[in-house]
Amino acid sequence: MPRPGAASRAHRGVLFLDEAPEFNTRVLESLRQPLEHGELVIARASGTARYPARFQLVLAANPCPCGNAVGKGIECRCSSLARRRYLSRLSGPLLDRVDLRVEVLPVTRAEMAASTSPEPTKVVACRVAQARAVQRERLAGTGWHSNAEVPGRELRSRWRLPRSVTAELELAMDRGNLTARGYDRVLRVAWTLADLDGAGSPTVDHVGLAFGFRVTSGLAA
Ligand SMILES: [Zn+2]
Repeated sequence: MPRPGAASRAHRGVLFLDEAPEFNTRVLESLRQPLEHGELVIARASGTARYPARFQLVLAANPCPCGNAVGKGIECRCSSLARRRYLSRLSGPLLDRVDLRVEVLPVTRAEMAASTSPEPTKVVACRVAQARAVQRERLAGTGWHSNAEVPGRELRSRWRLPRSVTAELELAMDRGNLTARGYDRVLRVAWTLADLDGAGSPTVDHVGLAFGFRVTSGLAA
């Protein structure tokens, strides 16, 4: 009897995989289906079960097996082969479905000493709520509620952006640096950045920033 697993229990929530490259490749690859369709289909001899699985996937990875290849990486004792092999466990097709890749560097002593206080979570939450309200309004009557749910095809036709705004993406596609799926995903992030900015629609800067999130060093596309 199939039962809902971690992906379905994370429905409408966050699925966090710490040390993601340490997970079994089959487990990692099985995330592709729910990431694409928001559900998991489990086929057994006794029948087929469908479970909802629309979650926010967060993967954390060290830059290398020993975890020290950050900054200048002088403490790291891993061979370049070991480093490549470690990160290649996160396959291209899986990473193609990861929109934001952020390199987190260790906090320096100077940063620790600096007394600047970060923006309070409350303020950020308010901005996010506003951005979601804008999306709900734009998508009213479509059955979708957030940019994440809009199919790429619709995004490219109904909310088509001027060529001048998407030129960088078209060039990246021509050069083989961006897949068709990746193109749509960059568009979704660009719309979200525009909504967070209170802009009516994405500008060249929003598209550039969204694309930049996909090509962070170490885990290049
Ligand atoms: Zn290392």
